[in-house]
Amino acid sequence: MSYSVQHNLQLRPFNTFGIRATAHLACTLDDEAAVDEVLGLLREKGAAEVRAPHPHEITPNEQPFPRPLILSGGSNLLLARDLDEPVLLMRTRGRHVVEQQGDTVWLDVAAGEVWHDTVRWTLQQGYYGLENLALIPGRVGAAPWQNIGAYGVEAGERIDSVAAIHLQTGERRRFTAAECAFGYRQSFFKTPAGRDWLILSVRLRLSRTFVPRLDYAELRTALAMPGLTAVQVADTVEAIRRSKLPDPAVLGNAGSFFHNPVVDG
Ligand SMILES: Cc1cc2nc3c(=O)[nH]c(=O)nc-3n(C[C@H](O)[C@H](O)[C@H](O)COP(=O)(O)OP(=O)(O)OC[C@H]3O[C@@H](n4cnc5c(N)ncnc54)[C@H](O)[C@@H]3O)c2cc1C
Repeated sequence: MSYSVQHNLQLRPFNTFGIRATAHLACTLDDEAAVDEVLGLLREKGAAEVRAPHPHEITPNEQPFPRPLILSGGSNLLLARDLDEPVLLMRTRGRHVVEQQGDTVWLDVAAGEVWHDTVRWTLQQGYYGLENLALIPGRVGAAPWQNIGAYGVEAGERIDSVAAIHLQTGERRRFTAAECAFGYRQSFFKTPAGRDWLILSVRLRLSRTFVPRLDYAELRTALAMPGLTAVQVADTVEAIRRSKLPDPAVLGNAGSFFHNPVVDG
């Protein structure tokens, strides 16, 4: 079990806008067991009793236990104030195959894994389906939260299920894709009831056969070539994205604020 606790942590390095805001209590969670431990302490004793494995890292802080803010890559939130509620920094790691049947492969990926690194890792393994979603900032646990999407593909199409823990009760549950209720930049986890759940890991359903998705005109034009590979799709998506949006590491931003219009019929 591994986690660390800090008081009065400056969150500027943890959000892509680079906004200054202080977290009175921040817990960096490095594995799933730490999630249980920290939530249990918050639930039973309040923030004052959250103890780091190395006690010199904290000072006592008398706070109640309001719903924590889950902070992953910090690329889709605007910190408008200092935070009295506990902040949980998701840094859990791990990717492994849980099942293979024919061409289909199911992978569990920990919420704290970086999304883009995961996309590239799947391509290296020969697992296809995420190539259009290359270079979306953030971590894996946030992908179902707003059903990230780009260049004609949404994460929800590749998510088989999501493992989560209830922030208040500690109940663990696996949500099927149907229960995740994915919509355009939308999911159950974005609803008032869904915000009580911390996503622990995401089960992806990918394919060993590459089927290009070139619905997006810019991709279709750039990739009209024989023998197209998934890596070429990811490389092209990356190149287009880099030409359009500034790197948040250089210029603070949170991508596009606007949803594409949804046109019925
Ligand atoms: C330059 C740029 C380009 C972008 N392009 C795209 C794009 O093409 N498509 C797209 O869909 N988005 C895009 N985004 C938005 C952003 O990358 C995604 O929404 C991404 O999924 C956010 O991930 P994060 O780890 O940074 O989440 P955070 O900003 O840390 O969190 C976002 C929300 O999710 C919640 N959350 C995070 N992790 C968890 C968890 N484990 N369990 C429960 N709740 C959680 C947080 O509490 C918060 O409410 C872009 C952003 C930037 C800065």
